[in-house]
Amino acid sequence: MDDSELLRHSAHIFLPAMGIEGVERVRRARVLIVGLGGLGSGVALYLARAGVQGLTLADADLVSLSNLPRQILYADHQVGLPKTEAAGATLASLGYADARLLAERLSGARLAEEVDRVDLVCDASDNFATRFAINAACVKARIPLVSAAVIRMAGQLLVVDPKEAAAGCYRCLYPEIEEEAESCSARGVLGPVAGALATLQAAEALKVIAGIPTPLARDLWVFDAKEMESRRIRRRKDPACPVCGALASP
Ligand SMILES: [Zn+2]
Repeated sequence: MDDSELLRHSAHIFLPAMGIEGVERVRRARVLIVGLGGLGSGVALYLARAGVQGLTLADADLVSLSNLPRQILYADHQVGLPKTEAAGATLASLGYADARLLAERLSGARLAEEVDRVDLVCDASDNFATRFAINAACVKARIPLVSAAVIRMAGQLLVVDPKEAAAGCYRCLYPEIEEEAESCSARGVLGPVAGALATLQAAEALKVIAGIPTPLARDLWVFDAKEMESRRIRRRKDPACPVCGALASP
């Protein structure tokens, strides 16, 4: 890092848990963000600002008017554009021009290929089918996953870390495949609650990259903004999990 980069990242460098070594790891990291909605907007902004040089952003949707209250990457004049194009332009206007942009719904072999390229995946998608697919791809490739979800005024956050096999994976939390709910716009979501989860998802990603231990590698964190309650719940691997059940626990 040159002097201006040292100054830019000084607040992170001064964190004892992060230090210059942690910041260097963050700068070198390759991170895939799947979904550029309310969660992905915040995660992309914070990871870009933290200096992550290898950001890949994936989303197949277009920016719509109803996205704008919570999807803070986008401006009114970008309604109708592909989210990746709009996100790339916003990040470039903030001085970050390096994002790889994938205007596609990653699945199957393409998802596996993109997961293999990175050091960490942030699941910021909005449906169970995608979350299950991302989880399975990350477990198979042994790539850490930071998974967040938000609905109405509540959210959840967890880290699936290959080094914490006893905690299982995202799929272990859902022994039954749940029916797909409606979209965020249809079932409602309070914009800043998506932002809160996005911010903490970015924080967990930076911790994992920098090697700062997180309890969310073993626990599920749930947050209810209506009652302002949050708690951590210990996760256990489901021996019958179709994704990680056959993998040996340490
Ligand atoms: Zn599992």
